[in-house]
Amino acid sequence: MNSRPLILAIDDQEDQLRALEEALAPCDFGMITATSGAQGIEILRDREFAAILLDVQMPDMDGFETALWVRARDIRTPIVFLTEKYADESFAMRGYEAGAVDFLFKPLNPDILCAKLSVLVGLYRKQRELEIKSALIAERAERRYRDLVEGIPNGIVWTSVVGSGYFNYVSASAEKISGFPLEAWLGTRHFMLAHSHPEDVEVVGTSISEILITGRDIDTEHRLIKADGKTLWLRTTVRIAELANYREYRGISVDITSLKETEQSLRETIDIRDEFLSIASHELKTPITPLQLQIQGFRRLSQKGELHRLPPETLNRMLDVSATQIDSLSRLVHQLLDVSRIKSGRVHIDLSAVDLSHLIRHVVEVFRSNFALESVDLKLDLPDSLRGKWDATRMEQVLVNLLDNAIKYGMGKPIELSLREVEGRAEIQVLDHGIGISVEDQERIFRRFERAVSPNNYRGMGLGLYITQQIIDLHGGTISVESTPGQGSVFKLSLPLDP
Ligand code: ADP
Repeated sequence: MNSRPLILAIDDQEDQLRALEEALAPCDFGMITATSGAQGIEILRDREFAAILLDVQMPDMDGFETALWVRARDIRTPIVFLTEKYADESFAMRGYEAGAVDFLFKPLNPDILCAKLSVLVGLYRKQRELEIKSALIAERAERRYRDLVEGIPNGIVWTSVVGSGYFNYVSASAEKISGFPLEAWLGTRHFMLAHSHPEDVEVVGTSISEILITGRDIDTEHRLIKADGKTLWLRTTVRIAELANYREYRGISVDITSLKETEQSLRETIDIRDEFLSIASHELKTPITPLQLQIQGFRRLSQKGELHRLPPETLNRMLDVSATQIDSLSRLVHQLLDVSRIKSGRVHIDLSAVDLSHLIRHVVEVFRSNFALESVDLKLDLPDSLRGKWDATRMEQVLVNLLDNAIKYGMGKPIELSLREVEGRAEIQVLDHGIGISVEDQERIFRRFERAVSPNNYRGMGLGLYITQQIIDLHGGTISVESTPGQGSVFKLSLPLDP
């Protein structure tokens, strides 16, 4: 734009061209000359001109023919014909039809020539300015669009010419999201397929053929394997854009990995909840059935007026069995209540002076009176007394849970319960020689609803250890397990004497 606009002068007579050069020397534009129509057309191929001065009378290809050739090449540069002949109307019409904007007659008047060309040069300048302005606007719009696209942090915007197998544009976010550099995205044939999760290769392939066959947009969820080997979930939407002489896929692939992970863990939670509900209802029903049978039995006897004939020992035994069932029912209900209290942070401990040796003896006594330890050898190793500050009811609950498990999973073999004071802490161990727990399960059994045994073989809701751990935590203590499958387990508690 800063260089001077040019005029192309085509005339077969060199003296005429020189005269033109002289005449236009003072004007604010340069001039290129050609001595034939063919040469002029050749020059027009590579350069742009503000106007063409075209001699009408030339051998081989005259001015009108040259003009028609120029227009046929879609060159819109204004043409001014130079002629010596006096133009009649049909002559003028031929010129205008060939694309002339004006006629000038020889001999030329330099002032008129300069003035006429200046108007055309002025128009040319305006048009160039407009072109530059609109190119600037387009460039700005493009930059804004790119900024916008590059600014999408969790989405990869891309394009690919149909049939090429390569991306021709990929937004910068691709690198951050996938870990692969942009060069890999742009330089790898069928990048998405090449890095597809093995199970999704088919999904991606089918989607591509689907969009080609139907022309309809596609929307697919699929996985890529990232540079670090982890899985990247993408939701890709693609459409085909029809351009002047090719077709292009335009797509956006949004990173939905965290969404997928949440979905997965929600599904797992729902599965755990459903399994828990079925286990819990089974557990609650188990003590109810014998209770119902007992009551039916009593009612039958009462209807026959025979209740008084039951020997007191039988009656007592029946009532003992019922009490045991009610105890077990109430323990299950309390566990459920505890879980909901723990979840809402409503479990508190009430510390008071407690003798832990005494408390353990009391718990064992209750177990013995309930016949739970009838066929099990329980060894106690306790000091006479070990005083500290704890929540007596909650500590009792902890001991019941651990002893209950040692009996349940202990295969009837001896159980050892010991208490010691070590460096200002009370250490309790509950040891059994039962089924044991595999290393993989040792951590998860302390979580809610987690069990490491089949519900067909062992009753339970998977809540005892979870609640136990919460209570120990509230006392500022720790609980751990050591176990060898088939040989037994030892649960170790360590509690500060005064939390
Ligand atoms: P529940 O016994 O009701 O299933 P718990 O939370 O008390 O629930 O225990 C969770 C799981 O830990 C049990 O299902 C069992 O698999 C395992 N477990 C607990 N105590 C023992 C033990 N002494 N020996 C073997 N496995 C045990």
